[in-house]
Amino acid sequence: MAENNGSITIGVMASDHIAVGLVEGHRVRGKVHIIEGLPSMPADSIAPVIYDEMVRVSAEAGIDVNAVQAVGVGFPGIVRNGVVQESPNIQQAKGLDLAESMSCVLGRVNSKAPVLVLNDADAMAAGVAAAMGSLEKLTRVWTLGNGIGFGRFPRVQGAWECGHMVITIDPKEQFCGCGGAGHLEGIMGYRAMRLRFLDMEPEEVFAGARLGDPKTSAFVKMWHRALAAATANLIHQDEPGKFYITGPNSIYVETALLNQYLHEMVKMTPLQGSVFEVIPTSDEIAVVGAAISAHLAAGA
Ligand SMILES: [Zn+2]
Repeated sequence: MAENNGSITIGVMASDHIAVGLVEGHRVRGKVHIIEGLPSMPADSIAPVIYDEMVRVSAEAGIDVNAVQAVGVGFPGIVRNGVVQESPNIQQAKGLDLAESMSCVLGRVNSKAPVLVLNDADAMAAGVAAAMGSLEKLTRVWTLGNGIGFGRFPRVQGAWECGHMVITIDPKEQFCGCGGAGHLEGIMGYRAMRLRFLDMEPEEVFAGARLGDPKTSAFVKMWHRALAAATANLIHQDEPGKFYITGPNSIYVETALLNQYLHEMVKMTPLQGSVFEVIPTSDEIAVVGAAISAHLAAGA
């Protein structure tokens, strides 16, 4: 693993807002800045808005923006070669060559900093690996929110849209935001839960299960079984290890139940030994992850 203590990188994490920070080594220097309103921001404005904030965080740190060595942008959706190919929650960004737009804006001030645009969940996985001091280890992170994100550090080629992994062949399972049948997100996603229980908020579903209500209890078991199934599939095609869980709905995770289901689903001896751990994350962790990923991609 390349040492990058002292390197000056900009990390950006896009979700419903844009978080921008100046990262020195593996730490944010100064404060992470937040720009609200990404879902309604015109696609053409995204790179200039990021650049303006990049200038501000650099100025605050007393650093000339031209001294920035690389820029990493975590963005939700399928990102390939800097292009946002699909982004269900930031639909106007579909087809946007964000890496090119960023390089273009940077070029106007003669900055040649390389730009990496990567999936937001991969940025989060890199940030978690750094926060845990385990950049040399495989780190996988599930993010449970409106959608279900999966990130892996180190990154590998491929779509890795594991939130859309098929975990049931029941044709009635149709709640995924992408429209696909039987998807993990169609069971676990916040939006999908609201569609399934039209008369109840997800918070009430989990509260009902805690009180022993049979209908919601059955669903909460299925919710855990779905995540165990997707994780078991990943273990069978990749390797066992630790799976971190984060995001707003990680508060509903019963780790013991997940581990039990996973154990029932993975029986081959060399593939055993995986564990789940729920961890709190933040914009800061993701910003550091985006920055580290850009630094590594630049080969500095
Ligand atoms: Zn889906």
